[in-house]
Amino acid sequence: MNKYIMPVLILAIFEAIAVILWLTKDNLFYLFNFSYIGLSISLGVFLYIQKHAYARRVVQLLVGLYMLVYLGLICNENMQMEGFWYYLFTGTFEAATIHYAVAKIFGPLLFGRGWCGYACWTAMVLDFLPYKIPKHPRKKLGWIRYIAFAASLIFVMALFLAKVGNIERIMFWAFIIGNIAYYAVGIVLAYAFQDNRAFCKYICPVTVFLKPMSYFSVMRIKCDSQKCISCGKCKSLCPMNVDVTDNSRKRSNGTECILCMECVRNCPRNAL
Ligand code: SF4
Ligand code: SF4
Ligand code: SF4
Repeated sequence: MNKYIMPVLILAIFEAIAVILWLTKDNLFYLFNFSYIGLSISLGVFLYIQKHAYARRVVQLLVGLYMLVYLGLICNENMQMEGFWYYLFTGTFEAATIHYAVAKIFGPLLFGRGWCGYACWTAMVLDFLPYKIPKHPRKKLGWIRYIAFAASLIFVMALFLAKVGNIERIMFWAFIIGNIAYYAVGIVLAYAFQDNRAFCKYICPVTVFLKPMSYFSVMRIKCDSQKCISCGKCKSLCPMNVDVTDNSRKRSNGTECILCMECVRNCPRNAL
């Protein structure tokens, strides 16, 4: 039964967050929201333990579609970077700010870039494309993410400085247009670079938060050097080009690991 401790623990952590936010914010939505996400993730971990090949994709679709369709399109919450800045500037600790705090700023100290592997609605679509394993070495284009990050900040700051009316409505349309742009750029880049995760590697502004925080992640893949035969399979399969055989925090592309477990599932010596 020990192997089922992890899904139970994950569910317990999310339930704790759900209850704390429900009681402190006096809003039943948080109980529903975090319970649903916790259940989805623990179901995925359970399926993974059962060696279900599509365990990660199940979670990605359950959480990604919920956030995109229910929170974004139905509840009109801009959960993208612009929404985060908007709620931050208005001093509201609500949906987007809580989402960023839990999934993308402080959460990565515990679960690294689990968000990118199991919940992101952008990657949910990109992962359907044919280049799951990058066909070419990584390019030195990561600087583009800082431009995207600055652009989102400047866009929202400009709305406030210009005292534009009905920013809430603008945020809704920014969410729609922003997502269409992300999908379009992500799909074009995936085909151009023959790499499904090219958008994640070079463009996504959220990585400005995710990368430094996940450097300190408690959850990370480690390699047992006694078992490893240096076959290189893990690195050649990794969608994010991580050198997972190096256990140091400074390993090559270490802050890119999305905990997809492809390396673990395919290691011939169970060294990971
Ligand atoms: S890097 Fe950005 S687009 Fe890619 S999975 Fe993470 S949050 Fe989503
Ligand atoms: S796949 Fe396993 S055995 Fe091969 S290099 Fe990676 S950790 Fe070592
Ligand atoms: S294959 Fe392994 S090292 Fe690469 S992203 Fe997935 S879990 Fe991380």
